[in-house]
Amino acid sequence: MRSRKRLFEGRLAPAEEWVEVGRHKIGVQRSARRKTMTLMVDRDGTVKIQAPVAMDLGRARDFAVSHLAWIEKYVAEKERLRPPEYTRRKEYVSGETFYYLGEAHRLRIVPGNAPLTLGGKARGGVELGAAGSGAFWELGAERQAQAEEEFIEFYKRNLKTILAGVVAKWAPRFGLEGARVTIRPASNRWASYNKGRINANWQLALIPMLQIEYVIAHELAHDKFMDHSRAFWTWLGMVMPDWESRKAFLRDNGATWLAGFGLQPKE
Ligand SMILES: [Zn+2]
Repeated sequence: MRSRKRLFEGRLAPAEEWVEVGRHKIGVQRSARRKTMTLMVDRDGTVKIQAPVAMDLGRARDFAVSHLAWIEKYVAEKERLRPPEYTRRKEYVSGETFYYLGEAHRLRIVPGNAPLTLGGKARGGVELGAAGSGAFWELGAERQAQAEEEFIEFYKRNLKTILAGVVAKWAPRFGLEGARVTIRPASNRWASYNKGRINANWQLALIPMLQIEYVIAHELAHDKFMDHSRAFWTWLGMVMPDWESRKAFLRDNGATWLAGFGLQPKE
C-alpha cells in the first residue's frame, strides 16, 4: 500500500480509534474515500493517521512505528513553540488570569448579575487602553455560566473601537483614506485584507497594542502589494520601520497571550 506523511496547518477532527506508539497516542480516522494511509501532525502537535475503512489497526500501528523518527521530530518542534498552559482550558473562577492588550489580569467573581468589566473603569462601557497592572476583571456570579461568552463579547466590542483608532492613525501613512473593519470569529489568521476591508480576528484584543498595529499595518500594506514579496516588506518598512521586532515579539509570545482561547493565528 502506498502511504505518505505530511504536516497540517490546521486542527484535525477528533479520531474514533487510537494506537499507542512510544509516548504518542495516535488517532486513527477512517474514511470510505481513502485508499492509502496518511500520517499527519497538526498545528497543535496532534498526531493522526487517516486510513481506509477496512484497515487493520495493527497495520496502522506498524505504519506509525516505521515513521517514529519523523513523528518525534515534528511533535518536539510543536511542543517547543507551545507554552505548557497553552492547551489548558480557562476556568471562569476567581483568580484565573485573562489577557487584554497583552496584559494579564485576574478575575474576581462578585455577587449579583454585573456584566464583565475590567479595572472598574469600564462600567459596562468601552475599555480602550491597557488597564494597568493593578486592574482586575469583575463578573457577577449569576453570569458565571456564560463567562466565556462575556469575555469574547468584551473583546469583540472593545477591539472594534481600538481598530477604528489604529486604522485612523495608520491608513493615511499608507496613502489610504481608511479601511472598513469587520470583527470576525477566531480563525487561523490574525486578519486579512480585501479591497479596502480588513477582516480582523477578535483574538487581536488579547495581544499588545504594538502588535495589533503591526497586524493592521501589514494588512494595509497589502492594498499596494497582495503578496509577501520583497517589495511588500520594503513598503511596510518605509511606513513602519520597526515592523520586524513587532512581528518577532508576536511570534514568540502569541501562544502565551492566546492560552485557553485557541491556537496562535498566522498573519
Ligand atoms: Zn500578509
